[in-house]
Amino acid sequence: MAATIAPGRKVAAGPRGLRTSGGAAMLKIVEVGPRDGLQNETATVPVEAKVAFVDALSAAGPGEIEVSAFVAPHRVPQLADADEVLRRIARRPGVVYSALVPNRRGFERALAAGVDKIAVFTAVSETFNQHNINTSLAGSLRRFQPVIRRARENGLPVRGYLSAAFWCAFEGRIPPEATIQAAQRLADLGVDEIAISDTIGKATPAQVARLLDGLLSRIPIERIAVHFHDTYGHGVENVLKAYEFGIRIVDASVGGLGGCPFAPGASGNVATEAVIAALSAEGATIEIDPEELGDARRLLDPYLGTDRRPQPVADLPICAACDHFTDVDCCDRKAATG
Ligand code: MG
Repeated sequence: MAATIAPGRKVAAGPRGLRTSGGAAMLKIVEVGPRDGLQNETATVPVEAKVAFVDALSAAGPGEIEVSAFVAPHRVPQLADADEVLRRIARRPGVVYSALVPNRRGFERALAAGVDKIAVFTAVSETFNQHNINTSLAGSLRRFQPVIRRARENGLPVRGYLSAAFWCAFEGRIPPEATIQAAQRLADLGVDEIAISDTIGKATPAQVARLLDGLLSRIPIERIAVHFHDTYGHGVENVLKAYEFGIRIVDASVGGLGGCPFAPGASGNVATEAVIAALSAEGATIEIDPEELGDARRLLDPYLGTDRRPQPVADLPICAACDHFTDVDCCDRKAATG
């Protein structure tokens, strides 16, 4: 079911006390293709091409571009050139250029490269955290403290990614209350913006609604972003559901580039083009030029090919009895389905 929202109308359904009125607020697309997209590509994209890609995206007009990640190069070799890319891009006024940082060392690199904003990352699922960042949720929050302090000292806003917010490739369904509690801990830590992330793309609009209904009574809506994957084809529907709840910060990746190399089967960030088309049809104001966006995407064709989407996670065996992935952790019934 599509949301029915028009400028100047009240949102028909939404979280308690947060119904918007007086017109649809400007929607901010956070373009994550250069980071979340390219980190999941096996092809080598030279630094010149990345700089040209980011510059072309800047011309298209998203409010924010996540340019790269200052993570250990051996962990994500595709983004080992983060420093150089950040230094060489042409900054456009009004565009926020952000980067992912895992720890204090990554922060100092990002600061030296001139980022406008940083993002830290953790997950609701303890198993995913152990696989992805080799610590617990609590351990990741301790790691963030000096990073957030340094960001404050330098006037940089901080985003916090909350992965596996609906489903985990290892633990299966994540209870909404667990995600709300984790989001609250990030907010209490001083993270300015929390990106609720459906890492394996398995969330449905009903699950999005259930989570946002509880979450938005605890955390101001201005501090919430959504990060959906289109693995099961629900990415755009989930964006529309979040928009219906009043969310106005939406992550998307041009051409649907990328996923997460540390989550088995995760693929396909929701495509910026599809998000713009769907939300524009709902009356959202999005200042991105689709033609310029297409130009940016095509700059990568020589490196990635035109068929760049990995296999969908739906090909992994899922247990019909417990809905977990049978190749990871499942009930003893192992009633595998495709
Ligand atoms: Mg993603």
